[in-house]
Amino acid sequence: MTTSGTGDAAARRAAIVRADKACVWHPYTPMQRYLDEVDPLVIDRAAGARLFDVDGRSYLDANSSWWVALLGHNHPRLVAALRAQAGKLCHTSLAGVTHEGAARLAEELVAVAPPGLEKVFFSDDGSTAVEVAIKLAVQLWFNEGRPARKRFVALDGAFHGETLGATSLGGVEVFRRPFAGVVLDCVHVPTPGGARGGDGHAAAFDALAEVVRRGADEIAAVVLEPRVQGAAGMLVYDAEYLRRTRALCDDHDVLLIIDEVFTGYGRTGPMWACEAAGARPDLLCTAKGFCGGVLPMAATLASRRVFDAFLGAPDRAFYYGHSFCGNPLGAAVAREVLAIYRDEDILARAAPKARRIADAFEALCDLPSVVRPRSIGMIGAVDLAATASYLGGAGWRVYEEARRRGAYLRPLGDTVYVAPPLTIPDADLEELLAIVRASIAAVVGA
Ligand SMILES: *Cc1c(COP(=O)(O)O)cnc(C)c1O
Repeated sequence: MTTSGTGDAAARRAAIVRADKACVWHPYTPMQRYLDEVDPLVIDRAAGARLFDVDGRSYLDANSSWWVALLGHNHPRLVAALRAQAGKLCHTSLAGVTHEGAARLAEELVAVAPPGLEKVFFSDDGSTAVEVAIKLAVQLWFNEGRPARKRFVALDGAFHGETLGATSLGGVEVFRRPFAGVVLDCVHVPTPGGARGGDGHAAAFDALAEVVRRGADEIAAVVLEPRVQGAAGMLVYDAEYLRRTRALCDDHDVLLIIDEVFTGYGRTGPMWACEAAGARPDLLCTAKGFCGGVLPMAATLASRRVFDAFLGAPDRAFYYGHSFCGNPLGAAVAREVLAIYRDEDILARAAPKARRIADAFEALCDLPSVVRPRSIGMIGAVDLAATASYLGGAGWRVYEEARRRGAYLRPLGDTVYVAPPLTIPDADLEELLAIVRASIAAVVGA
């Protein structure tokens, strides 16, 4: 690169950061610290498992850019599908109108969904997919003449999104606290994710069962992130908990909402994490990997039982919808995502990569103060202190070390984790795992 080229890049970078610091309010970011101290990555382009900044440096994307780019960035087939659809139809509403993309996508989703899910309600992102499930659950009981059933049960540490309904289900205390007075009625029960020193899934299940047994007449639904609670710090739990929860919900005629926004599309191994438990949800939420990280789009899948409760007179209908429901661009990309999973055998080819992640995270425990290694599918995590918390600082020091070494490794407090694209090339994965190890070692002083 010539001197003048470097100068141009530096000037461009400075101008972007100036505009950003003047006007952008960043998500999940303490802005005081950001404005005072942070020199942000300025990303220019991306390909595969790598992000490139305006200076041309590359960063391995350890978290698939907030868990969405499951097929890597800018998959050529997804870019081509988007281009082709954009030349034909970018948008039409889905209010009593339809189009090929939405119709075919719904059909294809039902074909790959866990058995029993037959209807697809489209929305925009994970939060709206959860919001749809919440409102369907409440209105189902209203329509069935049992309006007292409007309480939800969710896990401690749960994360289900940002809308007020989804926030109500959230069990991460720092996120929830300001809204304590305005959220829906939700009971939080102990996490089955024993990695934090909880009592394991059996005791957690007993606590859940007690809440459901006592309060069934007022409970609309139990809501779970299946097999792993992501934002809580990658807390992995046993499939048995899911299986028993399904049976419990059946016994008490309570709905089971499975939030596969993070876990769907093979993140934990199978297409859906709840498949491992054979737990058939009444409602399943999916987003993130849904469009391969190309566009925001989501869906809530419903069983026949749920759908049928909204048939009959018009006042039983679900009066809900977003402007971009079933958007044709999103539908075209989402269909191509499913085609790539079929054609490129994505799940089977991720399996050996998942084993590499598990081995590498297990091995991190020989570093001082690295504890609780855990992994499931294309996720590996460790905690850096005995008292990991979302606002802890060690994770961010690891982030800085990793950035210097060429990886984007956003932590969850003192939990350091990777959730890379399922398609990350083996050489990139090895490099990422080596960076994780070196960066943690630099912080904990090994
Ligand atoms: C990210 C996430 C959501 C929210 O999805 P958005 O697209 O960010 O609105 C909901 N549930 C789970 C489990 C998630 O990980």
